[in-house]
Amino acid sequence: MITEFNANLERARRRSRLLFWAVLLLSVPCLFIAIRLPLTGTFPADFLLVMVPWAAMFFLSGKRMMNSRCPHCSMPFYWVPGEPGKGNGLARACVHCGFDPRRAATEARS
Ligand SMILES: [Zn+2]
Repeated sequence: MITEFNANLERARRRSRLLFWAVLLLSVPCLFIAIRLPLTGTFPADFLLVMVPWAAMFFLSGKRMMNSRCPHCSMPFYWVPGEPGKGNGLARACVHCGFDPRRAATEARS
């Protein structure tokens, strides 16, 4: 049973994950704006004007999320350095130590 963890690392991991999902959901209104809003009057330029900044935000927020550290072992939470293909951006438990922050929070409350 693992209950000890660094609360600051957990807070940073949660924020980076929330930011990533918020940017991902932002793709829908960005696509709508890119298709509907005639800024320059030419389709590819309007589309790129809106979607390139969104893609940059998506890349940076994804990179930030993937580099967030495990609150228990301080290793990257979602991927294993030096081993491509061993990562999981949707992981709910650390890919190194198996630490599940939600379970630890539940156990800490009870
Ligand atoms: Zn860990």
